[in-house]
Amino acid sequence: MIVAKFGGTSVGDAERIQNVVAITRAQLQRKPVLVVSAHSKVTDQLVALAEAALHGHFDVGPLRERHQKIIRDLGVDSMIEPLFAELEGLLKGISMVKELTPRTRDYVLSFGERLSVRTIAAYFNKCGLPAVPVDAFDLGLVTDSNFGSASPLPEGDALMAFNVKRFDKLPIVTGYVGKDRNGDITTLGRNGSDYSATILGGAIDAEEVQIWTDVDGVLTADPRIVPEAVPLGQMSFGEASELAYYGGKVLHPLTLIPAVRKDIPVRVLNTFKPQSKGTVILRECPPEGTVKSIVSKDGIYLISIVSLRMLLHHGFMAKIFEIFGRYRIVIDMIATSEVSVSLTTDDDESLEPAVKELSAFADVTVQEGMAIVCAVGDGMRRAPGVAAEVLGALRGAGVDPLMISQGATRVNLAFLVESPQVRTAVHALHDHFFPRGARAAADPKVS
Ligand code: ADP
Ligand code: ASP
Ligand code: MG
Repeated sequence: MIVAKFGGTSVGDAERIQNVVAITRAQLQRKPVLVVSAHSKVTDQLVALAEAALHGHFDVGPLRERHQKIIRDLGVDSMIEPLFAELEGLLKGISMVKELTPRTRDYVLSFGERLSVRTIAAYFNKCGLPAVPVDAFDLGLVTDSNFGSASPLPEGDALMAFNVKRFDKLPIVTGYVGKDRNGDITTLGRNGSDYSATILGGAIDAEEVQIWTDVDGVLTADPRIVPEAVPLGQMSFGEASELAYYGGKVLHPLTLIPAVRKDIPVRVLNTFKPQSKGTVILRECPPEGTVKSIVSKDGIYLISIVSLRMLLHHGFMAKIFEIFGRYRIVIDMIATSEVSVSLTTDDDESLEPAVKELSAFADVTVQEGMAIVCAVGDGMRRAPGVAAEVLGALRGAGVDPLMISQGATRVNLAFLVESPQVRTAVHALHDHFFPRGARAAADPKVS
């Protein structure tokens, strides 16, 4: 069995969905289970609808028309009206009580995937490929109640493994959503369908998980920043995890966890060019080069905590992390000096109360408008001069990092810059580590 996940753009309109059928048909003998996202931009529309309802006015018309157009273009009957009625009722409730809890928000956001699986399954059936739409929670995807970025609970694995076997038709499963133990719908965080695919792949011991998207695989940089970036043939789980964590949007940050646990290869492929090889992510891959990819993550806050009185006392760090832990704030980078601790996070929701608590025993400043740039590659472990190369390339481009961090595994080197410098920094590093000649070797199309 394999799990094949198709992202938003890959199911964005009727033509793309026809492609999904062709790609699936070509590998039916591998017993695929599909995981699909909402049609592109639908989740953004749902976010906007929830906010609009909170302010008293909302209109589901454009969203309904978007779905109806896809259904018309595919020439199918899709049972989406009951879901629209449910969504409208929910939005009405939000506008009446003027409250949008994280739980209700997740419920609203779940409609994108729940709608798309129904339409896509209807089209598969029309094409003579018997398929059934499945809500992941009905398959057994149980999560904790951390609405907005829920985590799967292990008890779901056996349920999913058991239930998948019961279908005699091809299951087309919602990405992104689950249910907690109380039966409330949860989401795995934006971009979470990748994670759904590996959670399901891990549960059913899939032979491979395929992430079908709109680029040729994992590239040497984000193509929106570096258009000349080229695809990588192979990556290790470690490299891909770092890349996803530090902003490589092609994979949700937690995607590799179930794959690592069960040692399942993850292949990133292009729906627009199904014949291209894509990138395979494996436990280990032959060492090639030093840096494999340059990624970046914007919208970062730098928090500086200074306490002359407390710093050398034991328990000071514990106190700081207890506060961040309590507010569920995820820290990306840390640096300490004799009198200060600097941390970064992209979590803006609970930052204010956390900073207030920290200010009771330290001087705290928060700077926004920061970004993390990160060079990733297993080969950096064997190449002691890479840090100097990175800093040299940045200096040459006039970029002055505010903070630098290299994890103990030494497969990444991350640094903090001011947001306006991100593009310059990424380009400088890409030009340095992937000069034109090297790019030509990686991708025969470049000459
Ligand atoms: P999907 O809807 O298929 O999940 P996403 O938009 O979430 O697709 O992820 C694919 C996008 O990730 C690409 O179009 C690209 O712009 C972006 N991206 C960022 N960094 C990388 C990278 N290193 N390699 C490939 N794509 C990247
Ligand atoms: N539809 C969700 C989102 O837009 C999940 C996903 O596409 O992976 O974030
Ligand atoms: Mg995605």
